[in-house]
Amino acid sequence: MTSTHAFWLAGRQATGEATFDVTSPWDGHLVGQVAVPTDAQIEEAVAAAHAVRDEFAATPAHVRAAALDHVSRRLVERTEEIAQLISAENGKPVKWARGEVGRAVSVFRFAAEEARRFNGGDAQRLDTDAGGQGRLALTRRFPKGAVLGIAPFNFPLNLCAHKIAPAIAVGAPIILKPAPATPLSGLIIGELLAETELPAGSWSVLPVPNDRMPALVQDERLPVISFTGSDTVGYAIMDSVPRKHCTLELGGNGAAVVLGDWASEQDLDWAATRIATFSNYQGGQSCISVQRVIADASVYERLLPKIVEAVGAQVTGDPSDSATDVGPLVSEDAAKRVESWVDEAVQAGAQLLAGGKRDGASYAPTVLTDVPADVTLSREEVFGPVLTVKRVDGEAEAFAAVNDSKYGLQAGVFTHDVQTAFRAHRALEVGGVIIGDVPSYRADQMPYGGAKQSGVGREGVRFAMDDYTYERVLVLTGL
Ligand code: NAD
Repeated sequence: MTSTHAFWLAGRQATGEATFDVTSPWDGHLVGQVAVPTDAQIEEAVAAAHAVRDEFAATPAHVRAAALDHVSRRLVERTEEIAQLISAENGKPVKWARGEVGRAVSVFRFAAEEARRFNGGDAQRLDTDAGGQGRLALTRRFPKGAVLGIAPFNFPLNLCAHKIAPAIAVGAPIILKPAPATPLSGLIIGELLAETELPAGSWSVLPVPNDRMPALVQDERLPVISFTGSDTVGYAIMDSVPRKHCTLELGGNGAAVVLGDWASEQDLDWAATRIATFSNYQGGQSCISVQRVIADASVYERLLPKIVEAVGAQVTGDPSDSATDVGPLVSEDAAKRVESWVDEAVQAGAQLLAGGKRDGASYAPTVLTDVPADVTLSREEVFGPVLTVKRVDGEAEAFAAVNDSKYGLQAGVFTHDVQTAFRAHRALEVGGVIIGDVPSYRADQMPYGGAKQSGVGREGVRFAMDDYTYERVLVLTGL
């Protein structure tokens, strides 16, 4: 019998009146049952977060940093068990799940380091103007208030870490809401935080059902919303609370550009391997997955077969097997949606070079060329293991093709030329340009976020800390 997973209400374990099932997308087995908080419990968590905000902001940095270090260490100790859990609830191959735990370890460690450095303060002399004579301004950052962190299913541990660790680092209370398909990884963070000395009420992990989220989003005691997920839900949230501070980390249809100077056999082998790996990594369910390859005509004919071969070499199957590269998508419905988009493209004239087959929740790694510009696959985020390859003539056409998207999260540019790298940085309408690699590279300490409809604001530990706080100036007179 599966035991019920409690949630974390104001730092302590609690169960509600109902539960929901978390099942494996691979074989449908019951991974766990999760308690759902009642309205009264949600109210208790929000009231506690609001009430503790001054106390938490005043909690010494060394106490908050020690708690963050503790979580980081415990994640290391429990890596294998947590990786298996992520793999079971999400369907992610366990080798990638191990990597995700490693990243969350770093996020908590970075947050501990930043907590020790943050708010050293800055002094500005005001006597550079006659009106400021005898005055000095000191600046410190203070939390804007309690944070509502809303996380998606695709990195169920690390994206929860990206919400909660920066909040603790600045002393902002947080209510974390994990995704309904994958709540167990977020609840583990609660388990580890419960071992620390942080003030009661400073954090909660609540698996609130989607239909009860609007009330939480509207609550004025949660002035900051940090959301990662789809653009549809993200913009609906922001539109419903125009006066709140919202960070939105949304979708993308990441492009990898291969330019004419990336032409040796070794260059093209590397590009093909990276493209194949990161269009299929987590079944393509990463916001910076490679969805579009844009290749210069001078390398296209040699690159394409290498990509098809590398995609064909991806090992599909049981996500709990360490040899598996590509597991199922998060649900059969998700796989059916991907299937319908590929079918639409093929009917409109696209050439299918690999994949194109569905089995339950699994979709085979797929490569297409000649995809018409007006089909869904060319316009939207596929969020599946599907790659389109396009031939272009020269750098300007390549960069224009990258920008021909409503999204702008990250882009990869395979070039050896430093001038081209700077031109790409200037020309591409994205939050990050990765030279010599795919768009899927993310370091958890760097600023990360989108341009255009890929989002608003930046994550990356230090940048989220800025987002959760505001500058307050202290002017001293008579100096
Ligand atoms: P989703 O938008 O369906 O759900 C995201 C979260 O929002 C979940 O916790 C969900 O329960 C919650 N939610 C749903 N309805 C809500 C409502 N009315 N009010 C408040 N919260 C609500 O997204 P998903 O399917 O879990 O994740 C996939 C999406 O996330 C993709 O578009 C992907 O690109 C994006 N993503 C972006 C980043 C990034 O950093 N830019 C990272 C990972 C994923």
